[in-house]
Amino acid sequence: MISILLKPKKEESLLRFHPWLFSGAIQSIEGNPAEGDLVEIIDNKRKFVAIGHYQIGSIAVRVVSFDKISIDDDFWTSKIQRAYAMRLSLGLVNPGKNDTYRLVHGEGDSLPGLIVDVYAETAVMQAHSVGMHETRNILAAAIVKSVPGVKNVYYKSETTLPFKAPIAPEDGYLIGEETSTLSALENGLEFHVDWLRGQKTGFFIDQRENRALLERYSAGKSVLNMFCYTGGFSVYAMRGGAKVVHSVDSSTKAILLTDKNVETNFPNDLRHKSIDVDAFKYLNNLGELEQKYDLIVLDPPAFAKHRDALRNALKGYRRLNAKAFEQIKPGGIVFTFSCSQVVSKEQFRLAVFSAAAESKRNVRILHQLSQPDDHPINIYHPEGEYLKGLVLWVE
Ligand code: SAH
Repeated sequence: MISILLKPKKEESLLRFHPWLFSGAIQSIEGNPAEGDLVEIIDNKRKFVAIGHYQIGSIAVRVVSFDKISIDDDFWTSKIQRAYAMRLSLGLVNPGKNDTYRLVHGEGDSLPGLIVDVYAETAVMQAHSVGMHETRNILAAAIVKSVPGVKNVYYKSETTLPFKAPIAPEDGYLIGEETSTLSALENGLEFHVDWLRGQKTGFFIDQRENRALLERYSAGKSVLNMFCYTGGFSVYAMRGGAKVVHSVDSSTKAILLTDKNVETNFPNDLRHKSIDVDAFKYLNNLGELEQKYDLIVLDPPAFAKHRDALRNALKGYRRLNAKAFEQIKPGGIVFTFSCSQVVSKEQFRLAVFSAAAESKRNVRILHQLSQPDDHPINIYHPEGEYLKGLVLWVE
């Protein structure tokens, strides 16, 4: 195996189990690794530190093991088994009620660069590193072997792999085939999940607990679900007994998906309406008090995908939340989220605070929300915390 020799003292963060080696820490590379190769990291006294996938870029290695062991099929199978055992123990594997969960959450499951979501009989796998791309067939076999009920593995990495890497990933089934249903159960609700054409792996599982919380607050309320995508929050609000539910998204495909999901769970239910329009435009033109809402959900796409976009992203969150505070009925509730990894919890809260001050409304924090248990945060890799939310009471 090719060795990567560190500069003096540069092993410290790795000794604290941080799973990334940055290129600036490298003294020399003994050999000529290709992107995706397994490499051994050694300190400047030539002591073993970790093994990981080599990468071109500022993150030079993503660590897969801090032990000097052989990285074979059994190694990967054992990692998948451990990830599954945790989901099972958390009560997420519950056929007939809940068969949708994230099986592997990258660094959070000590599998940097790999995401796997399970939808009933199908696992959808995404590689974010060439190393995981190269390992895809071994991983797919390990998933089918380790996760009872999963028969198909769909690989979806055309858009997630580093675009400069000399590979041409193709989306498709690595094991099994398309099922006729393409649907999944979450907390007893049925959702059509389009992993072939949908965003990410087809569904945002990370909002499961937050949707369940919204359900608790929905009885008798008029609910506005902004950036609805699959209509997840809308369907929970309906089960919670909302008076009306309006779902807004600027994508026609998202609106069709929302309508389908609402219709599946609540056929011919006249409480729901979806609106294909820009969120900011919609909030600008809400009109009189009786058209305003008791409960507003703001779950926009990541406003900042990179650090350079941070300032504009914070402005975006501020502007969006200020609009919601302006428009919500007195005694209303706002569920507001940010899924931008580069926006910290504190920065997001400050943006929402500025929005509240701008609107001059009296705003209280009821809950501070995060990502659910199947999206664990590796304690040595705090960067893995990305979903932030606040539930606010607006007087
Ligand atoms: N809340 C959803 C996930 C939201 S994903 C869930 O629980 O699953 C973000 C969504 O925002 C996408 O569907 C995208 O089409 C939509 N979107 C992006 N920009 C928008 C805008 N300016 N106005 C309305 N919708 C927008």
